[in-house]
Amino acid sequence: MGAVNPERVNAGEWREWYESAGQMLAAGWEVVGRCEACDLHVGVRLARVPPERSLWKQTLRCPRWRCEARMTILGRPYQLRHLGPRGWINMTATDLPPIRRR
Ligand SMILES: [Zn+2]
Repeated sequence: MGAVNPERVNAGEWREWYESAGQMLAAGWEVVGRCEACDLHVGVRLARVPPERSLWKQTLRCPRWRCEARMTILGRPYQLRHLGPRGWINMTATDLPPIRRR
């Protein structure tokens, strides 16, 4: 990431740098699933996701009994942890094209 201000990085750029679960795990990301129907939040253990798998533009099945909905995946990079709730990136909805700075 170099000298870029992490608060000005868009979701597409985060994805470009941290596409796979293994890359996210190594970089200290936090990931949660949020159910759009029942609002259940569950933590995603990156260490248990195959390292080559990408979680971008994916959904998860809600684990709550009788809830059939899909969960949005939210990720918070280590560099945005200090922002608290504002640091979460909607990984499911990300379709922003990356901006090349070089
Ligand atoms: Zn649910």
